[in-house]
Amino acid sequence: MSRVIFWILLIGLVVLAIRAKLKGLGARRQPPLDRQDTREPPRQAPVAEIETMTQCAHCGIHFPASEAVHADGHDYCSPGHVRLPPR
Ligand SMILES: [Zn+2]
Repeated sequence: MSRVIFWILLIGLVVLAIRAKLKGLGARRQPPLDRQDTREPPRQAPVAEIETMTQCAHCGIHFPASEAVHADGHDYCSPGHVRLPPR
């Protein structure tokens, strides 16, 4: 009977030792708390870099407003469409 108790205790100690070892490996993979997240969060694009889009009054294509040809209160994609009627 004492041999059974001995083996149960031995197996229990081995399991505990393996668990402790695995826990130690898992904790080592994570950086220490004082080193965590020292990097800056990813920056969002400044509002000035976001291009405003507009739509051609003739063909309806969407394109950057900085490339628009303005005429008669409308935006056009090209000088050729300025001469054509708005749809
Ligand atoms: Zn157009």
